[in-house]
Amino acid sequence: MEWIRLKARLLEAGSVRISGEPVDRYVSRSAAGPSAGGKSGSLFFSAGGRRVRLGIDEASLIVLFHRGGGEAVLTLDGEEVYGRLEPAALHCPCQAYITVSGACIFHCRYCRVPGLPGRRKEIAEIVEMVGSAVDRVDAIAITSGVASSIEEEEAYVLEVVAALAPFGLPIGVSIYPGPETPARLHALGVVEVKFNIETATEALFCQMCPDLSWDGVWEALRSSVMLFGRDRVFSNVIVGLGETDEDLERVMGDLAAIGVIPVLRPLTPAASLAGRSRPSSARLLSLYDTHERILRQAGLNPRRALTMCSACTGCDLVPGRDG
Ligand code: SF4
Repeated sequence: MEWIRLKARLLEAGSVRISGEPVDRYVSRSAAGPSAGGKSGSLFFSAGGRRVRLGIDEASLIVLFHRGGGEAVLTLDGEEVYGRLEPAALHCPCQAYITVSGACIFHCRYCRVPGLPGRRKEIAEIVEMVGSAVDRVDAIAITSGVASSIEEEEAYVLEVVAALAPFGLPIGVSIYPGPETPARLHALGVVEVKFNIETATEALFCQMCPDLSWDGVWEALRSSVMLFGRDRVFSNVIVGLGETDEDLERVMGDLAAIGVIPVLRPLTPAASLAGRSRPSSARLLSLYDTHERILRQAGLNPRRALTMCSACTGCDLVPGRDG
């Protein structure tokens, strides 16, 4: 099966059932991202230099057989696909991806984090975590919920970034931005930022993220491109919140027009959207074609990403990396 079709099917299913040898050393449990708070964890399967993150679920119809030593076989739609399990460094392979505050005062409807008993990590603890993984990573990524206020969270994340600078690795940051966040991160040497617009339309944003500002995120994205440059600014847009494909085409076009790389993130049904479905593989493949065309026409290239999701590629179809 062609990789992109396989990955679209796996993203549609969202999970696999494990059989064979124990997979404990390959399982990661996350405090942010699509698998936040998941009990069974997830693992990374790669084949031919490409990667997908798979949730673990006893009830999944897709079976991943671990032959031992990381060699794995996926069976789906009557086909077998051979690949390897990749150990996560911190959260994902090859990056120390840290969630600073695992709690959030906001209530985005698709997000599990506000319901989790998360805590804020101490700076010394974060430095120690990165230090313990430094020989296995080529980048550091930082994300965070908002523990008490946007301003207070930004100030704390800036302290974290300053403490991590001595590692000499590229640092990417994805937090909820205030007006000065891009300039302050840039001044500390951060190389990439991801400020998530989350939804394809403003109306959906108001519905899904009632406490956040659509205009504020766009403003942060615009000023970030001026500072960090093209190919260094990213924004997640969730697929499956009730938007149309035309809505997604429009928002991807608007992001690309200001030099921002859209990251199309299939919905993981959770929180108050737990009853929704994941987007179909056919829809993801069709959106991939639109996404690829928009990026090509805008001269944007996710292959250049050094940090965060476009470098990891675990959860999304990434033009230039998966196609
Ligand atoms: S794509 Fe992003 S959210 Fe998904 S595993 Fe990789 S770094 Fe984490």
